[in-house]
Parts: sequence; structure tokens; C-alpha cells
Amino acid sequence: MSVVQQVAEPLLAPAWKRFSSSAGEHLLVVPHSRLFDLPPDAAARFDEGEAGALALAMTLGQAGLGEDRLDVVPEPAPQSLSLNVSSSCNLACTYCYAGRGSFGSAQIAAMTPEVANAAVDRLLADARRERPVTVGFLGGEPFVNRALVHQVVAYASDAARRRGFDLRFSVTTNGTLLNSADLELVRSNRFAVTVSVDGGEGTHDRQRPSASGRGSFRRLREHIRPLLIEPGKAQVAARVTVTRHDLDLPMLFAELRELGFAEIGFAPLRAVSGRPHRDALRAEDWPVYLDALIRVAKAEIRSATAGMPLVLTNLAVALKQIGAGASSPFPCGAGGGYFSVAADGRWYACHRAVGEPDFELGDNTGLDQAKRRAFLSARHVHAKADCGACWARYLCSGGCHQEAATRSLESCDFVRGWLEFCLATACELPSPSAKAITDHRSGVCQA
Ligand code: SF4
Ligand code: SF4
Repeated sequence: MSVVQQVAEPLLAPAWKRFSSSAGEHLLVVPHSRLFDLPPDAAARFDEGEAGALALAMTLGQAGLGEDRLDVVPEPAPQSLSLNVSSSCNLACTYCYAGRGSFGSAQIAAMTPEVANAAVDRLLADARRERPVTVGFLGGEPFVNRALVHQVVAYASDAARRRGFDLRFSVTTNGTLLNSADLELVRSNRFAVTVSVDGGEGTHDRQRPSASGRGSFRRLREHIRPLLIEPGKAQVAARVTVTRHDLDLPMLFAELRELGFAEIGFAPLRAVSGRPHRDALRAEDWPVYLDALIRVAKAEIRSATAGMPLVLTNLAVALKQIGAGASSPFPCGAGGGYFSVAADGRWYACHRAVGEPDFELGDNTGLDQAKRRAFLSARHVHAKADCGACWARYLCSGGCHQEAATRSLESCDFVRGWLEFCLATACELPSPSAKAITDHRSGVCQA
């Protein structure tokens, strides 16, 4: 991986975070997310801000042999693409970021096979063979253009096999159009299937009506049930958009368990197209949301320690990342290892930003490397003023680029509160349980 630029760490950036759990006293060394148990006297020295403790934390936070430095802007090879194959959708969700696939008027026609195949060819020409590559499908609703999805899976599978790549697929779908051929496609290939579903019938129909204004829940249930019963090679997860009108996460979670989902992740609504949305969480909602998420997580931990698999992906991903010492100055792969291709073949840093000039970094003929460097340098967590003083800066990494404008003290308090809960949980879990319950797929952007 080549390094293009450095972004210096802000002065006075906190080097550690002290926290307690039922297992005792602990220390998070912020750079490289190193976790330590502390005897009470050592914990007191950190709490008093003793100079020796600070010096120790600084030393422990140095990059080790083979570890990436946190002040650099890397320029990795693209390994993952999403193809915006459809410019329309059969639903009319109240918070849709994609304008039902048209992205305003930036995407006026569906993607053609020529454009899709050229994007796959570009990915395989530039990606590193020793790491998996992923081709994803987005829209609008991808299965509005099902012929293209099926064609691309065949084309990419053949091209990857010939070139020796480990290829995976992903799709984000509203689930209402899946037919038997689609089910066979995702069952017989390694598909991560993310189903957008917001809870039981009442909540879901309010937030995700069909284009005609009728609810879509019953149709979703009918079409997704066969896949939940028999997923084959597919890994199927529910992705729940939480609005300020329905913060009863334990109830939403129970409704989706009843539907048959074995993986469920919550995403609070913050912004649409980078702007605040009327249904987005407001200052007073964030503590309620945190409390509700922790209540779901505590119930999950009880059942996981009794041997059941973790279902709450927010928790599973956080524990896995903490266990692995995950630490990054970027919140996601946007513009790094990940790009989203519009129907006309332009490459954007992120699927939410199709049509936004700042996020357009190339096309099927190649990337504009100078623009990509500028994009990544400006979004390094060290370049974000508020984040420099935050202990969560290499775990949260500044949050989604698309939602940066809606960051608030309250939303950041939620992030820190959730991470502190997950850190304490990681310290409390006995090692064999921790390994078993965090043996889970790694985090992917579900935004
Ligand atoms: S919690 Fe807020 S201040 Fe801290 S890293 Fe995340 S976005 Fe930045
Ligand atoms: S986290 Fe935000 S910027 Fe990153 S890929 Fe997801 S939606 Fe895009």
C-alpha cells in the first residue's frame, strides 16, 4: 500500500481512556486501541494524570513493527465496488438518500451490461490478488434490474476465476421483488444480503411504503421468508433505519427476530444527502437511543454467554474490532479500498454521494489520483477539529463522511457511550466466550 501524505496528530490529543467494568479497572491506549487491565494503584496514577503514567501511555501508543502509522493517508488498491444498477425503486421510503435511485437527476437510466462489465474489469485490473474482492449491487432497488445483476454475477465470477481472485458479492435490497431465480443466485454464490426492514408491520409500513402509498411489510415477509429459512451460501442481515419516532429498539429487535433474521443491525437516521432530515434523531433523542441499544445488547450478552449466537450486529462488530485492536483514521473505505459506480460509469467515493462532484474520483478508465489524495487527506480524522480532542478518534474515526455536517455534541456522546459500554463488555467476557461470540463477519458499511 503506498502512502501519499501525512496529517499530523493534533497537539493535546488524549493518549488514553480510563474505564471500569465489573471485572476491574482498565486502560485503553487510544492509538492502536490497546487494552490493558490495571491494578487499583496503577489506575489511580492514570486518574490523577501523573506524568509517568502519561509517558507510559505515549510509549504504548507507538506503532509496532508491521503496524500502520495513524498519521498517514494510505492509498490502497480498490478491493470493493458497489454498482448502482437501477435508477428506480418500487418503494418510496420517507428517508431515501438515493431519490429512489435517481439521486436527484444524476442517474436517469439503469446501468447497462457494458458499463457494469467495464467496472468489474477495472476492479480486477487494479485490486490486489492476495485479498478478497467484493462486487456489490445497489440502486434504487437492484432487483428492478435483475437481468443485469444475474449477468454481472456470471461475468465477474468467470473473470475472477480466470485471474485467481477470491470474489464475494453483496446486495442491499428492500426484499419485496425477490423471485425464485434471485434466491437461487444469492444462495449459490457468496452473497452478503442486507435487507432494509425497519421493524414490524406498523413501523415498517409507516417508513417504507410502496410507491402507491400502501405498506410493503407483508410483501417483504412473503418474499424474504424462503431465504431466511434456507440461506444457502448467503449471509442475510436486517438493516434497521431508526427514526426519532420509534426508539423502542427492544421491540423492533423482537419483531425482526420473529420474522426470522439471525443478524440485525440498527442505524440511527442522522441525515439525508448530507442534510438534516425531519425524522432524524435530535439532541434529546440520543440518550434514549443509547439506553435502548444497551438494553438490547445486555440481553444479547446474556443469551450469548449461554451459548447462543450474537444477533445484534452493532455489538458483534464492535466486539470484534475491539478484540482485534482495530484503529483507523478513516471510518470506512470510501475513496480508499471502496468505490461506488454510477449507472454512467463514474466512480464515486461512496454510494450515498452519487452525483456529488466532491465525491466523484474517476470512472471506468481509472481514478483521478490527485483528487483522490485531496479527498482522503481532507477526511483524515486528524483533519477534523472536534475529533482531535476525542479519545474515540481511532474507533469512531470521525463518523460517516456523508453525515459529518450533522455531528453534534449529543451524537458524539452517544458514540462514546456506546464504545465505553462495548469496551467494558469486552473486558468482562471470559476469553472463550469472547472468541466464540465475536467470530462474526467483519463490519461493512450499511449506511
Ligand atoms: S465521537 Fe465525535 S468527536 Fe469523537 S471521533 Fe467520533 S465524530 Fe469525532
Ligand atoms: S460510512 Fe458513510 S461515507 Fe463511508 S461508505 Fe458508508 S455511507 Fe459512505
